[in-house]
Amino acid sequence: MFEKLTAQPADSLLALIKAFQADPRGYKVDLGVGIYRDEQGRTPVMRAVKLAEKQLLETQDSKRYLGPEGDLNFVNLMKPIIFGANHDAGNVVGIQTPGGSGALRLGAELIASAAPGAKVWLGTPSWPNHAPIFESARLTVKDYRFVDLAKQQIDFDRVLEALDAAQAGDVILLHGCCHNPTGIDFDIDQWKQIAAKLVERKLLPFIDLAYQGLGDGLEADAEPTRLILEAVDEALVAYSCDKNFGLYRERVGALYLVSRNADQLKIADGNMASLARVNWSMPPDHGAATVRVILESAELTQIWKQELVEMCARVNGNRAALASAHPELGFIANQRGLFSNLAMSKETAVALRQKHGIYMADSGRMNLAGMQPSDAGAIVKALSAEGT
Ligand code: PMP
Repeated sequence: MFEKLTAQPADSLLALIKAFQADPRGYKVDLGVGIYRDEQGRTPVMRAVKLAEKQLLETQDSKRYLGPEGDLNFVNLMKPIIFGANHDAGNVVGIQTPGGSGALRLGAELIASAAPGAKVWLGTPSWPNHAPIFESARLTVKDYRFVDLAKQQIDFDRVLEALDAAQAGDVILLHGCCHNPTGIDFDIDQWKQIAAKLVERKLLPFIDLAYQGLGDGLEADAEPTRLILEAVDEALVAYSCDKNFGLYRERVGALYLVSRNADQLKIADGNMASLARVNWSMPPDHGAATVRVILESAELTQIWKQELVEMCARVNGNRAALASAHPELGFIANQRGLFSNLAMSKETAVALRQKHGIYMADSGRMNLAGMQPSDAGAIVKALSAEGT
């Protein structure tokens, strides 16, 4: 049965974790894997999460099935955070998914059910899992280079060109904030131009919002999403709570469909549930229940928001430290989220690890949460030594 299978490449980021752990040097910096880290280099369970889990443990009296849509209280409590306190609740349906990845996959399957073979336009570089997820759902990925990494700038002409080349009904994947892997987000004026193009060309925005609160705060990071939703008749939003609640392995996410057509919304909602049913039957409960408990409590919500503000400030503090350590790194302070991408050769990335103990992905993507402000000097020295 399986003899025609071909070997798959090993996950290079997992190999990077192992190499870092095995490195005996006293001084080393891990800018590799894309998770938040605190001053001690740990990825702790957030305080609000611990408190909510304690409450869950004490009060949860059943683990009966919830159904393919998961915990709808969780899904609904997230809505004002994503769509704003005054959003029109009648315009949006949602379903809990296993992480943002599950939301992307479910959205892709929904699109494939409605329009088999539909095209998805993907600005590159992007999260490496985007294209495979869409292709696995039998969609056609059209990529375009949205950023000039040599200049660390968006190539906005190229973006407009892609939007003009797309045809009515094509899907446009957009990172809502904190672009992975570049940290380069559109400015508000560019978002407005994109919104106008989406309307003019009748394109479907599929917004991937995986880092809300880790760029400029919860409200500011949702602004582009809200601006797009205000302009268009229909959109999909794939949401992840895995970073902003630090729940990674619990797999917490949701897929939302926003539409001005109430009848279609209802049918699409039923389709999302039946697609979930054949993919994972129902999503894992614990993480979403934990988020629900936090959001049901004003006190826990306050603690969570405060922790998120501190995480965000730490990342932006590291950005400022690195930017001020070398004039050519100034752009890092203007980027947002966990990542910046220095677009180096693989050889340079390997030399940074081997000669200097500075670990980043072979692509040159670095996780700004992996450093301390005091590491900025050593990082700059290593980059200069390697001619980057
Ligand atoms: N979208 C982007 C841009 C991401 O970076 C990630 C996670 N690295 C995801 C989606 C998926 O998130 P999750 O872990 O919740 O599946």
